[in-house]
Amino acid sequence: MRGAVTAPTVGIVGAGVAGLHLGLALRAADVPVTLYTEQAFADLAAGPLLNTVAHHHPMLDRERQWDVHFWPAERHGYGAHHHHVGGTAPVRFTGHFTHPSCAVDHRLYLPRLAGAFAERGGRIEVRAVGPRDLARLAGSHALLVVASGRGPLSGLFPLRPEHSPHHTPQRLLCAGLYTGVRGADPAGVTISIAPGAGELLEIPLHSAHGPVTALLFENLPGGDLAALASLDHRDDPALFAKAVLEALRRHHPATAERVEERDFGLTHPLDVLQGGVLPAVRQDWIDLGGERFALALGDAHVVVDPLMGQGANLASYSAAVVAAEIATDTAYDALFCERVARARE
Ligand SMILES: Cc1cc2nc3c(=O)[nH]c(=O)nc-3n(C[C@H](O)[C@H](O)[C@H](O)COP(=O)(O)OP(=O)(O)OC[C@H]3O[C@@H](n4cnc5c(N)ncnc54)[C@H](O)[C@@H]3O)c2cc1C
Repeated sequence: MRGAVTAPTVGIVGAGVAGLHLGLALRAADVPVTLYTEQAFADLAAGPLLNTVAHHHPMLDRERQWDVHFWPAERHGYGAHHHHVGGTAPVRFTGHFTHPSCAVDHRLYLPRLAGAFAERGGRIEVRAVGPRDLARLAGSHALLVVASGRGPLSGLFPLRPEHSPHHTPQRLLCAGLYTGVRGADPAGVTISIAPGAGELLEIPLHSAHGPVTALLFENLPGGDLAALASLDHRDDPALFAKAVLEALRRHHPATAERVEERDFGLTHPLDVLQGGVLPAVRQDWIDLGGERFALALGDAHVVVDPLMGQGANLASYSAAVVAAEIATDTAYDALFCERVARARE
């Protein structure tokens, strides 16, 4: 039962790809939505690299459906995965896609989508929502969706230990945007596996600087390249670029052979992201009391290791399922939440 609330307004906490795709899908179905986000989009656009996400065909198709496919994949995307498996007997092979994928810097992508959401009648409130605010917010909405990413709010949704076997990140990340890497032919992502060291994803990405190359090192803790995750580029940018180039030459020849050394370097000091991601699966929903419920969405629900390159694509899929269920139902109770859980399982 929805109690005193008559209009089925939905409140979404978080305006990453999960929150925005849900918001846009709900506005397309004419459902009133408010997005709560702790960071103004102008600050996000001017801030550090968020990720190096590639969107694949099913996600791009949803963008077309919601009329937010602002960077046509035919122009900005790519159509192949070039694989290199190192070791004593290296192997190379290429897989060609039936439809292109596309990577756009989320510092461009998310603000543009937020603009479209607002133009279509979505409300955006810039403020941080704490755990205690949730119950209060629930009084103003028929349903709350928590799409706050890997931040502390996701801790309200208990971990599912059977799907969350790790206690530490399995890879140490060093992601950055670079000049000086000639694209692969045909245009595509290069996936390089260096046994004992880790993996590299080399992604043609559209950024504020135009087309650049994202290099996402996923290095094994204790491995030969682990130190890249903590090497501070601000101390000595030239030394940082040299270390990255050296890592490519030693472990990822399929990319190293396309580097123009004199042009190689970070596109901007903010275009780096280092650290680790802990994969996790959390419960789908929680009871906020008073017949109000909150659903988890995106990384707040399932954190996929960036090695798989699927977290944002999964968040978008999940958003579409949740939106369809919201649009066809009227009572956002425990049964509804359980049905959503099964539908997107
Ligand atoms: C290096 C790297 C590469 C990746 N590559 C890929 C890839 O190729 N393909 C892919 O599909 N995925 C990839 N991913 C994963 C992908 O980035 C994430 O799965 C996806 O961006 C998660 O989106 P989200 O909306 O759930 O969370 P987020 O993007 O984290 O958004 C959460 C939002 O909630 C806001 N927020 C947080 N707490 C609060 C609060 N208390 N109150 C209000 N607002 C709050 C934040 O400000 C933010 O706007 C990659 C990740 C990394 C790190």
